[in-house]
Amino acid sequence: QTVYVNGDYLPKDEAKISVFDRAFLFADAVYEVTSVIGGKLVDFAGHMARLHRSLGELDIEPPVSDDEMLDIHRRLVAENAIEEGMIYLQVTRGTADRDFLFPEKDVRPNLVLFAQAKSLIDNPFVERGQKIVSMEDLRWRRCDIKTTQLLYASWAKSLAHADGADDAWLVRDGFITEGTSNNAYIVKEDGTIVTRQLSEDVLSGITRSAVLECARQLQMKVEERPFTVEEAKAAAEAFSTSASSFVNPVVEIDGSTIGNGAPGPVARRLREIYLEKSRAAAI
Ligand code: PLP
Repeated sequence: QTVYVNGDYLPKDEAKISVFDRAFLFADAVYEVTSVIGGKLVDFAGHMARLHRSLGELDIEPPVSDDEMLDIHRRLVAENAIEEGMIYLQVTRGTADRDFLFPEKDVRPNLVLFAQAKSLIDNPFVERGQKIVSMEDLRWRRCDIKTTQLLYASWAKSLAHADGADDAWLVRDGFITEGTSNNAYIVKEDGTIVTRQLSEDVLSGITRSAVLECARQLQMKVEERPFTVEEAKAAAEAFSTSASSFVNPVVEIDGSTIGNGAPGPVARRLREIYLEKSRAAAI
Protein backbone atom coordinates (compact mmCIF):
# COMPACT_ATOMS: atom_id res chain seq x y z
CA GLN A 1 0.00 0.00 0.00
CA THR A 2 1.29 3.44 -0.97
CA VAL A 3 0.63 6.35 1.41
CA TYR A 4 1.15 10.06 0.76
CA VAL A 5 2.87 12.14 3.47
CA ASN A 6 3.85 15.77 2.84
CA GLY A 7 4.98 15.33 -0.75
CA ASP A 8 6.28 11.77 -0.53
CA TYR A 9 4.68 8.53 -1.72
CA LEU A 10 5.80 5.84 0.70
CA PRO A 11 5.12 2.19 1.52
CA LYS A 12 2.61 1.98 4.41
CA ASP A 13 5.24 1.03 7.01
CA GLU A 14 7.50 3.96 6.14
CA ALA A 15 4.74 6.59 6.25
CA LYS A 16 5.24 8.41 9.57
CA ILE A 17 4.08 11.50 11.46
CA SER A 18 5.64 13.00 14.60
CA VAL A 19 4.21 12.21 18.04
CA PHE A 20 4.13 16.03 18.44
CA ASP A 21 1.72 16.40 15.54
CA ARG A 22 -1.28 18.35 16.86
CA ALA A 23 -3.74 15.84 15.44
CA PHE A 24 -2.20 13.17 17.66
CA LEU A 25 -2.19 15.39 20.77
CA PHE A 26 -5.33 17.55 20.29
CA ALA A 27 -7.29 16.12 17.33
CA ASP A 28 -6.33 19.46 15.76
CA ALA A 29 -7.02 18.35 12.21
CA VAL A 30 -9.68 18.08 9.54
CA TYR A 31 -10.34 15.32 7.05
CA GLU A 32 -12.28 14.25 3.99
CA VAL A 33 -13.23 10.86 2.59
CA THR A 34 -13.86 10.66 -1.15
CA SER A 35 -15.26 7.50 -2.65
CA VAL A 36 -13.87 5.86 -5.76
CA ILE A 37 -16.16 4.08 -8.21
CA GLY A 38 -14.81 2.51 -11.39
CA GLY A 39 -11.39 3.96 -10.56
CA LYS A 40 -12.77 7.52 -10.50
CA LEU A 41 -13.45 10.07 -7.75
CA VAL A 42 -17.03 10.85 -6.74
CA ASP A 43 -18.07 14.43 -5.80
CA PHE A 44 -14.43 15.53 -5.65
CA ALA A 45 -15.23 19.26 -6.03
CA GLY A 46 -17.73 19.08 -3.16
CA HIS A 47 -15.18 17.45 -0.87
CA MET A 48 -12.61 20.12 -1.73
CA ALA A 49 -15.12 22.91 -1.08
CA ARG A 50 -15.97 21.45 2.35
CA LEU A 51 -12.27 20.93 3.13
CA HIS A 52 -11.64 24.64 2.48
CA ARG A 53 -14.51 25.57 4.75
CA SER A 54 -13.26 23.30 7.58
CA LEU A 55 -9.71 24.66 7.21
CA GLY A 56 -10.99 28.24 7.11
CA GLU A 57 -13.06 27.84 10.30
CA LEU A 58 -9.95 26.58 12.14
CA ASP A 59 -7.54 29.01 10.47
CA ILE A 60 -5.34 26.30 8.94
CA GLU A 61 -3.73 27.10 5.59
CA PRO A 62 -4.45 24.66 2.73
CA PRO A 63 -1.14 22.78 2.32
CA VAL A 64 -1.47 22.29 -1.45
CA SER A 65 -3.70 23.59 -4.25
CA ASP A 66 -6.87 21.75 -5.30
CA ASP A 67 -5.14 20.73 -8.55
CA GLU A 68 -2.31 19.14 -6.58
CA MET A 69 -4.87 17.50 -4.30
CA LEU A 70 -6.55 15.99 -7.35
CA ASP A 71 -3.18 14.73 -8.66
CA ILE A 72 -2.42 13.11 -5.28
CA HIS A 73 -5.85 11.44 -5.18
CA ARG A 74 -5.40 10.11 -8.71
CA ARG A 75 -1.89 8.87 -8.07
CA LEU A 76 -3.07 6.98 -4.96
CA VAL A 77 -5.95 5.46 -6.92
CA ALA A 78 -3.49 4.34 -9.62
CA GLU A 79 -0.63 3.14 -7.39
CA ASN A 80 -2.98 1.20 -5.13
CA ALA A 81 -5.06 -0.05 -8.08
CA ILE A 82 -8.32 1.11 -6.48
CA GLU A 83 -11.32 0.17 -8.60
CA GLU A 84 -13.76 0.76 -5.75
CA GLY A 85 -13.04 2.22 -2.32
CA MET A 86 -12.07 5.44 -0.62
CA ILE A 87 -9.33 8.02 -0.46
CA TYR A 88 -8.83 9.39 3.07
CA LEU A 89 -7.28 12.85 3.37
CA GLN A 90 -6.18 14.57 6.58
CA VAL A 91 -4.72 18.03 7.14
CA THR A 92 -3.32 18.67 10.62
CA ARG A 93 -2.33 22.07 12.01
CA GLY A 94 1.23 20.74 12.11
CA THR A 95 3.95 19.59 14.47
CA ALA A 96 4.77 21.84 17.45
CA ASP A 97 5.74 21.64 21.15
CA ARG A 98 2.68 20.59 23.11
CA ASP A 99 0.74 23.72 24.06
CA PHE A 100 -2.99 24.49 24.16
CA LEU A 101 -2.26 27.75 22.35
CA PHE A 102 -2.30 27.39 18.58
CA PRO A 103 1.34 27.62 17.44
CA GLU A 104 2.65 30.60 15.48
CA LYS A 105 1.93 30.73 11.79
CA ASP A 106 5.33 29.36 10.72
CA VAL A 107 4.18 25.85 11.71
CA ARG A 108 3.34 24.03 8.48
CA PRO A 109 0.28 21.80 8.18
CA ASN A 110 0.89 18.09 7.72
CA LEU A 111 -0.93 16.42 4.84
CA VAL A 112 -1.57 12.68 4.78
CA LEU A 113 -3.62 10.67 2.29
CA PHE A 114 -4.15 6.96 1.87
CA ALA A 115 -6.37 4.66 -0.16
CA GLN A 116 -8.67 1.86 1.00
CA ALA A 117 -10.00 -0.70 -1.45
CA LYS A 118 -13.55 -1.61 -0.42
CA SER A 119 -16.66 -2.94 -2.03
CA LEU A 120 -19.12 -0.02 -1.75
CA ILE A 121 -21.83 -0.67 -4.31
CA ASP A 122 -22.34 -4.24 -3.19
CA ASN A 123 -23.39 -3.56 0.41
CA PRO A 124 -25.37 -6.11 2.52
CA PHE A 125 -27.43 -3.29 4.09
CA VAL A 126 -29.03 -2.57 0.71
CA GLU A 127 -30.98 -5.82 1.07
CA ARG A 128 -31.08 -6.15 4.85
CA GLY A 129 -31.28 -2.53 6.06
CA GLN A 130 -29.54 -1.13 9.14
CA LYS A 131 -30.70 -1.47 12.72
CA ILE A 132 -30.24 1.78 14.60
CA VAL A 133 -30.22 2.65 18.28
CA SER A 134 -30.62 6.24 19.44
CA MET A 135 -28.06 7.73 21.78
CA GLU A 136 -27.50 11.11 23.30
CA ASP A 137 -25.42 13.40 21.08
CA LEU A 138 -22.48 14.20 23.34
CA ARG A 139 -20.27 15.68 20.60
CA TRP A 140 -18.99 19.24 20.69
CA ARG A 141 -21.19 22.01 19.26
CA ARG A 142 -19.36 22.52 15.95
CA CYS A 143 -20.30 19.35 14.13
CA ASP A 144 -20.34 21.39 10.90
CA ILE A 145 -16.51 21.27 10.89
CA LYS A 146 -15.16 17.90 9.76
CA THR A 147 -12.52 17.46 12.47
CA THR A 148 -10.77 14.24 13.50
CA GLN A 149 -12.34 14.49 16.98
CA LEU A 150 -14.22 11.26 16.37
CA LEU A 151 -14.01 9.56 19.74
CA TYR A 152 -17.66 9.97 20.69
CA ALA A 153 -18.86 8.92 17.23
CA SER A 154 -16.61 5.87 17.36
CA TRP A 155 -17.73 5.04 20.91
CA ALA A 156 -21.42 5.45 20.03
CA LYS A 157 -21.08 3.14 17.01
CA SER A 158 -19.27 0.57 19.15
CA LEU A 159 -21.97 0.76 21.84
CA ALA A 160 -24.59 0.32 19.12
CA HIS A 161 -22.78 -2.80 17.88
CA ALA A 162 -22.52 -4.18 21.39
CA ASP A 163 -26.30 -3.70 21.55
CA GLY A 164 -26.80 -5.80 18.40
CA ALA A 165 -27.42 -2.74 16.18
CA ASP A 166 -25.47 -1.46 13.19
CA ASP A 167 -25.16 2.23 14.02
CA ALA A 168 -26.34 4.96 16.38
CA TRP A 169 -28.44 7.99 15.53
CA LEU A 170 -27.58 10.85 17.86
CA VAL A 171 -30.19 12.87 19.72
CA ARG A 172 -29.79 16.43 20.96
CA ASP A 173 -32.58 18.16 22.91
CA GLY A 174 -35.04 15.46 21.87
CA PHE A 175 -34.32 15.58 18.14
CA ILE A 176 -32.11 13.39 15.94
CA THR A 177 -29.10 15.25 14.60
CA GLU A 178 -27.39 12.61 12.43
CA GLY A 179 -25.72 9.20 12.46
CA THR A 180 -22.21 8.60 13.80
CA SER A 181 -20.75 9.09 10.31
CA ASN A 182 -23.74 9.83 8.12
CA ASN A 183 -26.77 12.09 7.72
CA ALA A 184 -30.16 10.71 8.84
CA TYR A 185 -33.52 10.74 7.01
CA ILE A 186 -37.05 9.47 7.41
CA VAL A 187 -39.74 9.14 4.77
CA LYS A 188 -43.31 9.86 5.82
CA GLU A 189 -46.37 7.90 4.64
CA ASP A 190 -47.06 10.57 1.98
CA GLY A 191 -43.52 10.15 0.60
CA THR A 192 -42.08 13.35 2.09
CA ILE A 193 -38.38 13.03 2.91
CA VAL A 194 -37.43 14.62 6.22
CA THR A 195 -33.85 15.40 7.26
CA ARG A 196 -32.47 17.85 9.75
CA GLN A 197 -31.62 21.29 8.36
CA LEU A 198 -27.97 22.33 8.13
CA SER A 199 -26.55 24.09 11.18
CA GLU A 200 -23.62 23.72 13.56
CA ASP A 201 -25.33 20.54 14.87
CA VAL A 202 -24.62 18.41 11.79
CA LEU A 203 -22.04 17.90 9.08
CA SER A 204 -23.09 19.24 5.71
CA GLY A 205 -22.83 15.90 3.89
CA ILE A 206 -21.63 16.03 0.31
CA THR A 207 -23.83 12.99 -0.36
CA ARG A 208 -26.71 14.72 1.45
CA SER A 209 -26.66 17.66 -0.91
CA ALA A 210 -26.37 15.42 -4.01
CA VAL A 211 -29.15 13.10 -2.82
CA LEU A 212 -31.51 15.97 -1.92
CA GLU A 213 -30.91 17.37 -5.40
CA CYS A 214 -31.83 13.97 -6.90
CA ALA A 215 -34.97 13.88 -4.74
CA ARG A 216 -36.06 17.33 -5.88
CA GLN A 217 -35.41 16.46 -9.51
CA LEU A 218 -37.61 13.40 -9.04
CA GLN A 219 -40.35 15.75 -7.68
CA MET A 220 -40.11 14.16 -4.24
CA LYS A 221 -41.06 16.49 -1.40
CA VAL A 222 -38.22 17.36 1.00
CA GLU A 223 -38.57 18.93 4.45
CA GLU A 224 -35.37 20.09 6.16
CA ARG A 225 -36.31 20.16 9.84
CA PRO A 226 -35.60 18.31 13.08
CA PHE A 227 -37.42 15.01 13.77
CA THR A 228 -37.72 12.81 16.85
CA VAL A 229 -37.11 9.11 17.47
CA GLU A 230 -40.91 8.72 17.86
CA GLU A 231 -41.45 10.21 14.41
CA ALA A 232 -38.77 7.90 12.99
CA LYS A 233 -40.48 4.86 14.55
CA ALA A 234 -43.75 5.85 12.86
CA ALA A 235 -42.13 6.60 9.47
CA ALA A 236 -42.77 4.60 6.29
CA GLU A 237 -39.02 4.21 5.78
CA ALA A 238 -35.68 5.62 6.84
CA PHE A 239 -32.14 5.82 5.51
CA SER A 240 -28.77 7.44 5.94
CA THR A 241 -26.27 8.93 3.49
CA SER A 242 -22.50 9.20 3.39
CA ALA A 243 -19.72 9.19 0.80
CA SER A 244 -18.83 5.57 1.51
CA SER A 245 -22.35 4.15 1.93
CA PHE A 246 -24.24 6.36 -0.60
CA VAL A 247 -27.91 5.85 0.37
CA ASN A 248 -28.16 3.22 3.09
CA PRO A 249 -31.60 1.93 4.20
CA VAL A 250 -32.64 1.78 7.88
CA VAL A 251 -35.26 -0.76 8.97
CA GLU A 252 -35.29 -0.53 12.76
CA ILE A 253 -34.81 2.09 15.44
CA ASP A 254 -34.63 1.30 19.17
CA GLY A 255 -36.19 -2.12 18.52
CA SER A 256 -39.18 -0.72 16.58
CA THR A 257 -39.58 -1.89 13.01
CA ILE A 258 -39.85 0.92 10.47
CA GLY A 259 -42.48 0.39 7.76
CA ASN A 260 -42.67 -3.29 6.84
CA GLY A 261 -39.12 -3.95 8.08
CA ALA A 262 -37.59 -4.09 4.61
CA PRO A 263 -35.60 -1.35 2.83
CA GLY A 264 -38.07 1.10 1.29
CA PRO A 265 -38.66 2.16 -2.32
CA VAL A 266 -37.63 5.79 -1.81
CA ALA A 267 -34.22 4.79 -0.43
CA ARG A 268 -33.77 2.24 -3.22
CA ARG A 269 -34.69 4.74 -5.94
CA LEU A 270 -32.46 7.48 -4.53
CA ARG A 271 -29.54 5.06 -4.22
CA GLU A 272 -29.94 3.99 -7.85
CA ILE A 273 -30.23 7.53 -9.20
CA TYR A 274 -27.41 8.85 -7.03
CA LEU A 275 -25.10 6.03 -8.13
CA GLU A 276 -26.01 6.48 -11.78
CA LYS A 277 -25.28 10.23 -11.63
CA SER A 278 -22.12 9.76 -9.57
CA ARG A 279 -20.71 7.24 -12.01
CA ALA A 280 -21.36 9.56 -14.91
CA ALA A 281 -19.87 12.62 -13.14
CA ALA A 282 -16.89 10.92 -11.42
CA ILE A 283 -13.47 12.26 -12.43
N1 PLP B 1 -22.24 13.28 9.28
C1 PLP B 1 -21.11 12.89 9.88
C2 PLP B 1 -20.95 13.09 11.34
C3 PLP B 1 -20.08 12.28 9.12
O1 PLP B 1 -18.94 11.89 9.72
C4 PLP B 1 -20.26 12.10 7.73
C5 PLP B 1 -19.24 11.49 6.89
O2 PLP B 1 -18.19 11.08 7.33
C6 PLP B 1 -21.48 12.51 7.16
C7 PLP B 1 -22.44 13.11 7.96
C8 PLP B 1 -21.74 12.32 5.69
O3 PLP B 1 -20.99 13.22 4.91
P1 PLP B 1 -20.57 12.85 3.42
O4 PLP B 1 -21.84 12.58 2.68
O5 PLP B 1 -19.89 14.07 2.93
O6 PLP B 1 -19.69 11.65 3.51
